[in-house]
Amino acid sequence: MHIIEIYKSVQGESTFAGLPCIFVRLAGCNLRCTWCDSEYTFTGGKKMSLEEVEAEVLKLAPVKLVEITGGEPMLQEKELLLLIDRFLARGYKLLIETSGERPLAAVPKAVHKIVDVKCPASGEGGSFNFKNLEALTPADEVKFVIADRADYEFARDFTRKHELHSRVNAVLFSPAFRKDASPARDAANCTLDPRELVDWILADGVNVRLGLQIHKFIWEPLTKGV
Ligand code: SF4
Repeated sequence: MHIIEIYKSVQGESTFAGLPCIFVRLAGCNLRCTWCDSEYTFTGGKKMSLEEVEAEVLKLAPVKLVEITGGEPMLQEKELLLLIDRFLARGYKLLIETSGERPLAAVPKAVHKIVDVKCPASGEGGSFNFKNLEALTPADEVKFVIADRADYEFARDFTRKHELHSRVNAVLFSPAFRKDASPARDAANCTLDPRELVDWILADGVNVRLGLQIHKFIWEPLTKGV
């Protein structure tokens, strides 16, 4: 597998936010989101065997929550599914963060999928593979990163039209973060003021969860490996 980094931190997003978590970040992505904070994953990465990846994760015990992220992890699907089997057999709880552009049907149901449906301002709107709606389970989460009002309306309408609440555990609306964020650990680095997003959510009565990337409020926003 091509791996960018393996490290231990607290989970910054999703309903698992705040929990100690081991991150396995895979190299490569087939999208180019305008606000991407992981461009360093696009190329390179260290070639590691499944045994080596597993050994690195085991060193970070006793944490037994693992997020597989990227880049886009599903680009290495063959090895990824084997890695997932190994961790599940060891009793780990697994999260996978994916754009949902690649088919997700082969991901075991025991894995919590966090599917980041791209909104228009990402420049990758329309990349979501709609067949993946059927692959979602009640333990999964759908996330929208929202940069402006048009993104919000897209996310709101998508949530309603596809009845996401009947499909998944949580629907997350997260303000996008500036790529040129200042070192300040505050909401001024969001491209959309979280307060404005909350106002829209409440005005429309959309039953979604506001997501803030808490690692960007704990560490300086551009810090890697946290
Ligand atoms: S899918 Fe993720 S890693 Fe890929 S460009 Fe978009 S934000 Fe960056």
